[in-house]
This record gives sequence, structure tokens and C-alpha cells, in this order.
Amino acid sequence: MKNFIFFGKPGAGKGTQSEIVKKRYGLIHLSTGDIFRKHISNDTPLGKSVKLYLNRGELVPDHITIAMLKEEFQSNENPNGYILDGFPRTVLQAEALEEFFEDLELQLDGVISIEVDRRALVERLLNRGKVSGRADDKDLDKINLRFQEYDQKTDPLIDFYKKRNIFYSINGLGTIEKISQRLFDLIDQL
Ligand code: AMP
Repeated sequence: MKNFIFFGKPGAGKGTQSEIVKKRYGLIHLSTGDIFRKHISNDTPLGKSVKLYLNRGELVPDHITIAMLKEEFQSNENPNGYILDGFPRTVLQAEALEEFFEDLELQLDGVISIEVDRRALVERLLNRGKVSGRADDKDLDKINLRFQEYDQKTDPLIDFYKKRNIFYSINGLGTIEKISQRLFDLIDQL
């Protein structure tokens, strides 16, 4: 069993690559952004409570995000392993993850950062906004707020995981196939 975190700024390709990598290794892909969006489109109580945060491009409060993810973990029986995409995004979430990995006797094998420079990311996000219908991809102010949230709250996780010697990075520029190959090469060594 292998468990990974795909780490990176908004638009780095975490979701696209998670879908490819999960198939190759038979893993479960857990994307907190996708789960929140599903709740919003189903108009569930959780969806109602997080909608404004997502629309504005702000992070959902930690207690809501952590409780939701915990529930997702408990709903999978005998998984082959997980790819976490978009979680953790704060140090508090990373600490909570360590706790529930310990409870479930799971081990984190690598935090893999997909590196793309910011200018390329803004372009990608604006292009994605034209087709995804995501309110947070369409507007430059919202995109900038998401980067600001990343810089303030998520970037400190790099040091958090470097201290644990499980932080790796790959170049996230190039074709989707090339980037997947870089991930396969790295994952095969972990
Ligand atoms: P993503 O699809 O990963 O870009 O996430 C879209 C939005 O979902 C973010 O801008 C946040 O509003 C929310 N979100 C996703 N994951 C998290 C998380 N781990 N912590 C807080 N908010 C999150």
C-alpha cells in the first residue's frame, strides 16, 4: 500500500495527474476541492456552508475540511492506497492527517510537489475557467486571492514535510504525458 500527497499551487495539474496515476497504481484519488464542489452541486448542508469560501477563492475553515476528509477515509474499505490532492493545505490539516494516519495505521510515502511558475499557472487557470465553469477560475482577483492563501497558509507545509524527509518535486511544465512519466519514475522509487 502506498499513499501520496500531490502538492502544488492552484493549476499545477494535481487533479489531472492524480486521475492518471491512480489508474496505474490502483489508488483512490481524494480531491477535497472535488468533494466540496460535489456537495455544492448537490446542495447538501456541507455544500451550503462551504459555497461562499469556494466562490471567493478562500480556504474552507480547517475544522470543516478535516471532518469531511476523515469521513471520506472511513468510507473506503481495504484501499490499495491514496492520492491526496488539495489536502493538506494548512499546517493544522497536516497535523490532523498525521493523527488519522496513525489511527488507521497508514504511512505517508511521499509528498510530491508539481512545480510550475506562477505566470504559467495564471494563464492555465484563466483558460480552464473558460471551460470549467468554476467561478474561482474566471476572475483574476479570485485567482490572486487563491495564490495569496497558498503563500500564507500552504507554503509552510514544504518545510513541514522536508523535515520529515518525504518531500519530492517534479517539473510540472511540458505535456501531460511527460509529466505523468516523471511521476511514474519517481513513484517507482518510493
Ligand atoms: P481545488 O479544487 O483544490 O483548487 O480547491 C478549490 C477550493 O476548494 C479552494 O479554493 C478552497 O476554497 C476549497 N478547498 C479545497 N481543498 C481545501 C483544503 N484542504 N482546505 C481548505 N479549503 C479547501
